[in-house]
Amino acid sequence: MNAPVVYKNARYLDVEEGIWRTGDLEVADGRFSRITQSTGPADDSGHRPHDVDLSGRHVIPGLIDCHVHVYAMTANLAELETEAPSYATMHAARLMGDMLERGFTTVRDTGGGDHGLAAAQSEGLLRGPRLFFGGKSLSQTGGHADNRRPGQQQSQEPMCCAGLGMIADGPDAVRRAARDQLRTGSHHLKIMAGGGVASPTDRVDSIQYSLAEMRAAVEEAHDANRYVAAHAYTPGAISRALDAGVRSIEHANLMDRDTARKLRDAGAFVTMNLVTYWALKEFGASMGLPDASQRKVDDVLAAGENALRIADEEGLQLCFGTDLLGGMQIHQSKEFEIRARHQEPLSILRAATTTAAKLLQRDGELGVIREDASADFVVLDGDPLQDFGLLSDPAPEMVVQGGRIVSGGGEN
Ligand SMILES: [Zn+2]
Repeated sequence: MNAPVVYKNARYLDVEEGIWRTGDLEVADGRFSRITQSTGPADDSGHRPHDVDLSGRHVIPGLIDCHVHVYAMTANLAELETEAPSYATMHAARLMGDMLERGFTTVRDTGGGDHGLAAAQSEGLLRGPRLFFGGKSLSQTGGHADNRRPGQQQSQEPMCCAGLGMIADGPDAVRRAARDQLRTGSHHLKIMAGGGVASPTDRVDSIQYSLAEMRAAVEEAHDANRYVAAHAYTPGAISRALDAGVRSIEHANLMDRDTARKLRDAGAFVTMNLVTYWALKEFGASMGLPDASQRKVDDVLAAGENALRIADEEGLQLCFGTDLLGGMQIHQSKEFEIRARHQEPLSILRAATTTAAKLLQRDGELGVIREDASADFVVLDGDPLQDFGLLSDPAPEMVVQGGRIVSGGGEN
């Protein structure tokens, strides 16, 4: 056991209760080993050279982004499939490092992220957020992970390249593909349950995968004590995914109130990601997004803000996501600003901490400042509940992951 380090006089947020507490955060072996609350003036007795004084700073739990694609070095996903995995990996390493700088100490990859990157991160070879990955997304032919243009006839080779998804048609093929992702240690399975923006031939309003195919994936995930996340925009796609037992819905931009209630009754999680539509509208054309995809963006942007309001009003288990592609990933923190138009700061922070941790099945371990939890936290130069712009500013004063200062404050 390494000698504990104490982050002293921290004003830290209890996200669950919505209150600020003041105390000394003692960290050992990557966890909060002891938290001593204080109410009086700062106590400097027993200060050791490696302790860190956080007087006057605000401390929030390390942020969790529940929808990223760390391999998406370009918005042209077809082009991505032709890159060498080694090249895509170097891009992923840089993207992950940048996410950490913004205060994201954990991310969930919802297509492409794999065991190699997760292992490299946990072994310290790669500087970045903890990576919860699902491997390749499963898609039907002509579905959201089928990146062939309509004129292309050659069949897609599954698992050949640095792409984010693979094609599997029919319950047996879905089952086999699911087992193969689980074989590599996937934390969840991702299926494409409806149309999307970045894919060249499907309609956003299409439903993808039959109930039997979805159920095959859900059964395999369930038997491995994992869960299925489904890409779904419309009530039809969301509803079928819920009927199949899917636990996590991605996007949900076109969700109506009835569907929101069905989601709540099912105890499912919803991860929205409005910033990606804002970014695609602003920069998509120059970042490699094909024309056919550009036209889909408008349809889902305004609807997404409406769906966010419905999700908030209906009390859904709402998680923070961004889904940015290519060079647009630098706008990750702008999701906070977009959500703040419709939600209270504390609700948004919960989406990026405690609720996200529940989705990841790491409740009490991640996204919280509490004894025995992972010592992941972000130090801000002000109160984000009063000045939420502090979170949209992508450069927090200090980021601590597993007890180590990984950004700002003189790295150790
Ligand atoms: Zn995505």
